[in-house]
Amino acid sequence: MRLVIVGGGPAGTQAATDAARLGVDVTLIERDVVGGAANLWDCIPSKTMIATGGAMADLERMSRMGLGDLRATLDLASLRERIAAIGRHLETATTDILESQGVEIVRGAGRLVDAHTVAADTAAGTRTWSADAIVLCTGSRPRLPDWAEPDGKRVLLTRDAYPPPELPEHLVVVGSGVTGVEFVHMFASLGTRVTLVVSRQQVLPGKDPEVAAVLEEEFLRRGVALVMGARAVGIDRTATGVRVRCGDGRAVEGSHALLAIGSVPNSEDLGLAAAGVEVSASGHVPINHHCQTNVPHIYAAGDLSGKLPLSSVATMQGRKIAEHAVIGHTAAHRHLEYDKAPSAIFTDPEIADVGLAEADAFAAGRKIRVTKVPFTASSRALITDDTRGFVKIVSDPATGVVLGGSIVGRSASELISVLSLAVTAGLRVADLVDSMPVHPALAEALAEAAD
Ligand SMILES: Cc1cc2nc3c(=O)[nH]c(=O)nc-3n(C[C@H](O)[C@H](O)[C@H](O)COP(=O)(O)OP(=O)(O)OC[C@H]3O[C@@H](n4cnc5c(N)ncnc54)[C@H](O)[C@@H]3O)c2cc1C
Repeated sequence: MRLVIVGGGPAGTQAATDAARLGVDVTLIERDVVGGAANLWDCIPSKTMIATGGAMADLERMSRMGLGDLRATLDLASLRERIAAIGRHLETATTDILESQGVEIVRGAGRLVDAHTVAADTAAGTRTWSADAIVLCTGSRPRLPDWAEPDGKRVLLTRDAYPPPELPEHLVVVGSGVTGVEFVHMFASLGTRVTLVVSRQQVLPGKDPEVAAVLEEEFLRRGVALVMGARAVGIDRTATGVRVRCGDGRAVEGSHALLAIGSVPNSEDLGLAAAGVEVSASGHVPINHHCQTNVPHIYAAGDLSGKLPLSSVATMQGRKIAEHAVIGHTAAHRHLEYDKAPSAIFTDPEIADVGLAEADAFAAGRKIRVTKVPFTASSRALITDDTRGFVKIVSDPATGVVLGGSIVGRSASELISVLSLAVTAGLRVADLVDSMPVHPALAEALAEAAD
């Protein structure tokens, strides 16, 4: 069997590794960097910059812990080199794993010629493969508005900001979804003055309002200006920087603007029509619960598939595809349940959630029990001098089964794994209590909320 994969991000590399382990001939076509946009532009560089900002904030915290007045000097060139070095390391590590499994890696732009033929335009010319199964996972790129022209100097996209040559004096961030708030946090913690233009009355639209409120408070405490209910409609260059114009006549001036207004799938030039693969009006490739497109042996995954745009979800889709394409639908095969995927926002404090949200349960008229424990009650939080945030668990009042939860606070992105396991394994709150968390540990708050 030959499997050809177009796109070497988390979805493509996972599908390739797993399928090769199952004994299939695998060709992976990647036009840019093995590891994908996730490693080059998105998850890794953003979290590396946030880690530097976090280390600077930690110095402030350490000063309060009896270590005197600690201050850092930011060296942008070293930070840029660190981001590049981590990217290179991850690319090499991923390539090594793929090659050790016998995956053929082809550098070039791939496309479908027909439903069973894939071509790649490489430096050495065009090559073609006949494939029994095909995976399309070409990812996405930042959405460009028709009301502003990013120039990479004053009007930035996220990809221009790792980091820019000079730290902006006053950055106006447009877009208050996950990416927008992470960039607000990133630049505010590095010392930039930041204004966030929020199109609704809450940052993180769609998230639990209680969770969003903690972040809004924290932003205000750190001097971030929030312009609420303001939809950006234009960006002008001024003598000293930029002016972001809003639909209601308000305007915000800054030295730089950063656009974080979503992404669009990389589905053009993929030959979808030639293979009879359907594409939606938004450019995504619709899939069923096995990640099959309307052409059953052609799968789609990752951001291209229009499901949850998360690296973790893309990776899981890659796993499921390899299993389904190679072994087929066995009794052991479990579908990916997107509504049980945990997600995290790497702000300070971190925010993470999984499963059923309180607001969605109320909207559906579903009976739930909600229990909440603040970290002010946690001895570990007091010891580490960071008592912000809380743990909230949503459970079924009749059975005690954990349905979901949110965590706001230090290490929320790690702690959520406990709730995530409870949700996917159908554990009860009593199981969390019985798990006997270490003392003193932040995880004790989970057991207390469960109790
Ligand atoms: C700023 C930012 C931060 C993020 N942070 C996180 C995070 O912390 N955690 C998280 O889970 N998610 C995060 N995400 C989302 C995450 O990056 C994406 O969901 C993930 O990258 C999707 O993986 P993918 O496999 O679909 O494709 P990608 O990672 O986008 O990779 C697709 C690959 O396909 C290649 N390609 C495209 N067209 C072709 C072609 N024709 N031929 C050959 N190759 C092609 C591209 O070069 C690319 O390497 C973030 C997103 C952004 C924008």
